[in-house]
Amino acid sequence: MEQPESKTHTFHYWNNPAPGDIGDTAFEFLKLLTGPTHIHLTGNNSSRCRAVTTLLHGNEPSGLYAVFNAIKQQVKPVIDIHIFIPSVDAAKQEPGFIYRMLPHQKDINRCFKPPFGDTEQDHLAKELLTKLEEINPECVIDIHNTSGSSPSFGVTTFMDERHDALVSLFTHRMIVTDLLMGSLMEISEHMMPTVTIECGGAQDSESNQMATDGLFKYLTLDDVFSAEHSDLSLEQFHNPLRLELLEGSDIAYGTYSLMEDGVTLLPEIEHFNFGYVNPENKLGFVSGDLAANLTVMDTSGNERLFDYFELKDGELFTTKRLKLFMVTTNPEIARKDCLLYLAEPDNP
Ligand SMILES: [Zn+2]
Repeated sequence: MEQPESKTHTFHYWNNPAPGDIGDTAFEFLKLLTGPTHIHLTGNNSSRCRAVTTLLHGNEPSGLYAVFNAIKQQVKPVIDIHIFIPSVDAAKQEPGFIYRMLPHQKDINRCFKPPFGDTEQDHLAKELLTKLEEINPECVIDIHNTSGSSPSFGVTTFMDERHDALVSLFTHRMIVTDLLMGSLMEISEHMMPTVTIECGGAQDSESNQMATDGLFKYLTLDDVFSAEHSDLSLEQFHNPLRLELLEGSDIAYGTYSLMEDGVTLLPEIEHFNFGYVNPENKLGFVSGDLAANLTVMDTSGNERLFDYFELKDGELFTTKRLKLFMVTTNPEIARKDCLLYLAEPDNP
């Protein structure tokens, strides 16, 4: 039985794990990993390869379930497959799959652009980029879960047929964004086609199945760049903006205002994921100035908060009909990342 050994912060290489090597469940599989892991599956044709990354966030297990299922079911890839699993340590913290990253760590999916810092996560991100350069896969799929309950969708920073085809292996919703935050998919601009797949919430029962179905196609189809493999037409959303909490503010979730100075959002807000929100739909409460608590920056660095949100007697509303995505009800994510993404509908 070949498996990773010492605990360091570089990727352990695991060549062709056998179904008997990986435990009986995805969680046992996780426990057998001793740190960031690079799994290499040999395909029928080793002259080409593709890459998969998953568990960049330790609380987003659907991609690992899919990898576990592929190895268990001995899916024979058509070409070589390289699977990178970075945030094993965070995922393994009891009771498992709870931590996006360890409390003192940076979000690795914000570290994939220069200048690289000197933290463990920066080093790991850089090592992953170097390995991708060496291996030179024809494309990369990065599998995540949304932080709240949500339908599945793909995200790309690059628009062309190849990216459409990659996303449609998994889902028919696609967000195209110009926001560059140091996420892995941004390497599409200068390396190889790379898309993020958000499988829906980790708690949504269909997420693991969706990841598994998509990964099996990614492993076994000879051509993943032609949309012929899909009868789904993609529903695209362009350039969503982020609603973020300002420094000094804080957030809670509840049905009445819980913050003396800060933001309270209604717990039901996640039901707006991929749905429309109208100006009469109350989203929550802000005590204090709206502009002292929240911000919506566009890609040119302009503040757009008041174009989209307003306060009426301390209650938060949108100024117009909007489409919302990636709405979280996890205060930790809301503080460190953002509260939600918003876009103006094409046909309001
Ligand atoms: Zn994620």
